[in-house]
Parts: sequence; structure tokens; C-alpha cells
Amino acid sequence: MNRFAKIGLGTLGVLAGTFLGYCALPNLYARNVSKRVRKTLPKGKNQVALTFDDGPNAEYTGRVLDILKKYQVKATFFIVIKNANQNLDLIERMKEEGHEVAFHSYKHQSAWELTPWETLKEIPKGEEQLKAQNIKFSYVRPPWGTFNLFTLFGMLRRNLQVILWSVEAYDWRKRQTKEKIAEIILDRVEDGSIIVLHDSGGAKGAPEHTIGSLELWIPELLKEGYHFVTISQGLKGEMV
Ligand SMILES: [Zn+2]
Repeated sequence: MNRFAKIGLGTLGVLAGTFLGYCALPNLYARNVSKRVRKTLPKGKNQVALTFDDGPNAEYTGRVLDILKKYQVKATFFIVIKNANQNLDLIERMKEEGHEVAFHSYKHQSAWELTPWETLKEIPKGEEQLKAQNIKFSYVRPPWGTFNLFTLFGMLRRNLQVILWSVEAYDWRKRQTKEKIAEIILDRVEDGSIIVLHDSGGAKGAPEHTIGSLELWIPELLKEGYHFVTISQGLKGEMV
């Protein structure tokens, strides 16, 4: 093997090692091993948590809130701070109407793109920007559910509990329909499920399908006897 091939192989080895140590292994640990990361609520109370990621969004979030109000359903909104800055009225409305506001990210970057320093600054930076709104986050969900070596540490250090999900309806996809979203949710929800939907982002116009689906499946789950709870209500007496 010539010298250049050796250098090439060496570089490849370092890159692979860095990826494993900084991204892949911490991600695997957080998602599958850590007891501090939840994907469901405790069973036995017929409770379901409805969660929305990526908002608030001036075009869509108000409409989501209208429907939740109509059915008297409480949800948890995992917000992106950059979106929140322009939609503080929506954050106020969420709080007034009994929903929970939780932390999704500062500007929706994957943990795999963040340096350790950026990772540790995400939450304090976000809290600082919403200081005037008097929001104290208790729950966090990293974008795409990805973790780097510092993500979990940064979250637990700020006393935040990590919430993933057990039911996703791929509502961010371009060709998803409201009927298909409703079908997936009705098919997969069970006692203790955490449902993830999106009130912003995804393919162009995707939240239209999300909003359209709510009227199809929320009344059905209510008829089946499910209680919609915020994450705090669902975990009352548990952890944190
Ligand atoms: Zn997201």
C-alpha cells in the first residue's frame, strides 16, 4: 500500500470513529437504553398524549388550537425558538388554553450537526429568549429524535425530561393525506401512546393534511374512551 492510500485509510478510520463515538452510539443509547428518555406514558388510565412539533406557525397553529378547543383536548407543543419569536401571541394562547409548551430546539438543527458547545447552549439560549413569556420548560424533544454525545447530558443538566413518541403518522411527507394520517393513528394508538404530529415544517403545505386529519380521528378516540393529557398530566407522579 502506498503512502497516500495509508493516509486515506487513516482519515477514513478517524471519521468513522468520530461518527460512532459522537453520533451513532450516543443516539443508540439515548433512544434504546436510557431510562430518562420516554416514548410512552404509563398505562392503565386510557390516556393519550397528543404532541405537535416544529411550530408555532402563523398560518397553521391557530387552526390547530381552534380544533383542540372545539373538542376540549389538551396537547403539548414542542416549539422551535426561532419560530416562537415571531409568534409569541400563539405561545400565550397555548398557555391560556391549558396546553403545555415544551422545547424542541433553537433552530431545528440535527444534533449530529451541532458542536458540543452549540449542543449545551441550545436550551439556555432558548430559555433566555423566552424569558419575558415566563416559560419554564420541563420537557424536550430533539429534532428527528437525534442525539450526539452531549445532547442527553445537556438536557438532563437543565433538569428536562426527554420525550420521544410511540405513534407517528408521517404527516410531514409530501404525499400524505388526512385520511391516511387518521387511519394510522386510529390503528396504532393504545393506552399510553404519545402521538407526534407537526403544526409547521415538512413538505410544502403538509400541515394542511395534519389539520384536516384532526377532525377525523380526535372524535373517534374520544368515543373510544381515551383521555387526552399533556405530558405533565400524563407523567404526574412519575420521574422528573
Ligand atoms: Zn422537528
